Amino acid sequence: MMSIKITTEPVIETAYSVSTNSYPIDTIRKDFPILSTELRGRKLVYLDNAATTQKPRQVIEALTAYYEKENANIHRGVHYLSEQATLKYEQARHKVKEFIKAGVNCEIIFTKGATESINLVAQSYGRAFIRPGDEILISTLEHHSNIVPWQMLCQEKGAVLRVIPMLDSGDLDMEAFDRLLTAKTKIVAVTQLSNVTGTLVPVREMCRKARDLGAVTLVDGAQSTPHLPIDVQEMGADFFVFSAHKLYGPTGVGVLYGRAELLEAMPPWLGGGNMIRSVSFEKTTYADLPDKFEAGTPDIGGVIGLGAAIDYLQDIGLERISQYEEMLTDYACARLELVEGLQIQGSPRARRGVISFTLDCVHPHDIGQLLDQDGIAIRAGHHCAQPLMQRLGVPATARLSLGLYNTAEEIDYVALRLQHSRKLFLS
Ligand code: PMP
Repeated sequence: MMSIKITTEPVIETAYSVSTNSYPIDTIRKDFPILSTELRGRKLVYLDNAATTQKPRQVIEALTAYYEKENANIHRGVHYLSEQATLKYEQARHKVKEFIKAGVNCEIIFTKGATESINLVAQSYGRAFIRPGDEILISTLEHHSNIVPWQMLCQEKGAVLRVIPMLDSGDLDMEAFDRLLTAKTKIVAVTQLSNVTGTLVPVREMCRKARDLGAVTLVDGAQSTPHLPIDVQEMGADFFVFSAHKLYGPTGVGVLYGRAELLEAMPPWLGGGNMIRSVSFEKTTYADLPDKFEAGTPDIGGVIGLGAAIDYLQDIGLERISQYEEMLTDYACARLELVEGLQIQGSPRARRGVISFTLDCVHPHDIGQLLDQDGIAIRAGHHCAQPLMQRLGVPATARLSLGLYNTAEEIDYVALRLQHSRKLFLS
């Protein structure tokens, strides 16, 4: 069993130990070349994983191998390289399908990222099926990516955006959800894990209730996919979105999962090459899934890189990663709370990987800059969640977000430096 001892002495760097009997932390850390980088004479402590994760050698090598040995455009080629690239691209689709336990490969659509995936649903499903007066239900916890596309749709269609409020704990107000979910609700779009408070949202229950009332559900998995095993069928989500770059894969690639029945009923969004069956100036007919939603040349190397990231995570095991990170999250909360004047935003029933905080006398941006001097990368700002900042009553927070390679020693070091920064500001 792993165990993390928490010290109550806030300024001792090595006063606890992490035993990782079943979690290969040393091997994992060696897989990430950037983690041995020195910044300002200090070893990098990377705790900005909710913004983007670092990439293991296995992903970097898959990208390099593709560009060195296999680069060609997919689908339309008759030559060896094109066939190889197509095979690898489609294998990656299969890996994603297995990873999130979708029903069939054609339910996996490659996009540029979670943001594009949500826009695709809003623009295709929304434009086709939303009518004036219909309601779209989102929550206070949402990232701008899961707010603005729905606002744009509501504006165009004369639909109404409703918002599930948040309790002071950082959990969603589920009684309010029950009240807001009515026969008028046509889409429920919620995050599974908040990128600000780290709140785990009971999406399974919400999807079930929404489906009972005939509403379609979209779950934003941008933050949850790196931390939790995902089963979209068990979750009951109609649509599920995530980005490769938060999952130890490359930037520029994302996934839209949609139930085949819904994707088939939806019109294409972007038009162009690859998404057609035949084109004439009079009439165009569209390709079957998934091509109907993949116009133009995709980020082939990036998709192959995502496949490599999934292989990497599956080798370690999502269950194991999840257990380790749960322990680390609890440890980080407990450790940060020992820093005088520090206030963690929210105390949700279940939290994973993300902790936002404020320090009584230091602005979040100054916290970020001071920690940067120590080689520590965190994020400060509104985290693309301005309505949530308003609800929390703060203009910004500092945010520490964990990845599978972080350690309790790193958390201790951050706590120590925070304590030091506070003293600097007070003196
Ligand atoms: N949703 C959530 C909860 C996020 O944290 C993010 C990224 N911060 C996004 C959506 C958007 O992801 P991307 O920028 O990769 O499209």
